Amino acid sequence: MNLIPYGRQDIDDADIAAVAEVLRSDFLTQGPAVPRFEQAIASYCGVGHAVAANSATSSLHVACLALGVGKGSIVWTTPITFVASANCALYCGASVDFVDIDPVTYNMSVDRLEEKLLAAKKSGSLPSVVIPVHLCGQPCDMAGIHALSLEYGFRVIEDASHAIGGTYRNEPVGNCRYSDITVFSFHPVKIITTGEGGMATTNDPELAKRMRMLGSHGITRDAREMTREPDGPWYYEQVELGFNYRMTDIQAALGVSQMRRLDEFVSRRHAIAGRYDESLRNVNVTAPWQHPDGYSGLHLYVVRLHSNMQGSIHRKIFDEMRATGIGVNLHYIPVHMQPYYQKIGFNAGDFPAAEQYYETAISLPMFPALTEAQQDTVVSTLRKLVNQQEVKIPS
Ligand SMILES: *Cc1c(COP(=O)(O)O)cnc(C)c1O
Repeated sequence: MNLIPYGRQDIDDADIAAVAEVLRSDFLTQGPAVPRFEQAIASYCGVGHAVAANSATSSLHVACLALGVGKGSIVWTTPITFVASANCALYCGASVDFVDIDPVTYNMSVDRLEEKLLAAKKSGSLPSVVIPVHLCGQPCDMAGIHALSLEYGFRVIEDASHAIGGTYRNEPVGNCRYSDITVFSFHPVKIITTGEGGMATTNDPELAKRMRMLGSHGITRDAREMTREPDGPWYYEQVELGFNYRMTDIQAALGVSQMRRLDEFVSRRHAIAGRYDESLRNVNVTAPWQHPDGYSGLHLYVVRLHSNMQGSIHRKIFDEMRATGIGVNLHYIPVHMQPYYQKIGFNAGDFPAAEQYYETAISLPMFPALTEAQQDTVVSTLRKLVNQQEVKIPS
């Protein structure tokens, strides 16, 4: 049986030709395609610098390092995200904590953030970096987070893995107006793809330079950054302990090619969301709410069952959707509920809004090539299952 996936890439002949061209060229990596892709992202976002990496996870790691995250640092993110948004801080030896979500947008709650900052200030445990995540592509309240960053002195990394092509207050996500660094992911389920890939944008040339160096072994070929006179034209210096996080030219060429259709992909996602919104009106679920400040990249379309269907009914509806070939998914298992995070001290009950979200959320299929017929099947199946369960619930 063919599963309708929750997300998938959209590759055309021009994408294939762009990759084939690199394969026939002199450079498979460290050639001209990577800077071209970086330039394409920087100009699309209206940001000073863009630094490519082999994944958003790598970009998040070098972003944390570039901002000085290390042993003794504290980093906060949201529990409703992919584990990478929190792991990046642990890689640096820092400690991680979470800020519970807003029950309407599902993004990090700025009210909870403010409360937590106030308490942390009293106890002397303020974070040095906060990583808001634009869940489903919907931008967070960045103006609110930015204002708090000035008041409490933390830096901001936007995890915009879901949000390329979106805007916040009519400006592109990724322009870093309210943050130090923004990170995008190009995993195949995301909005544009390079197979695997990530990008960090910033307006700070020093941060860009540090991220670039840390993603390439901590090596510099710039004589001005060296401790000694170059021994010769071959000379380079390793000045920090970095990683090999480079993107290949094969990936970057695909990225440049995908960028041509970014706006088209996002508007197609909006058309699909509009149809879902419309046809879910008579289904007893909560459709996503869009804050008027943002234009979502719409990586995901998450509906929530009402709380009387959480737990076993949620599971049953999920299983039955899957059994009829609809690849619904759940984004995300709250990070603090992962065994690794429980081992380092987090507990069930720590972030109740996130846990409540997890009990009821369902990601419906959302990708540019989703057909209207497939979408109608998704909605009619969900409607039937919700209605069936509804009659069984004692009122
Ligand atoms: C996909 C994703 C990542 C990780 O991206 P990769 O490119 O797969 O490393 C990080 N954060 C969020 C919110 C994501 O959705």
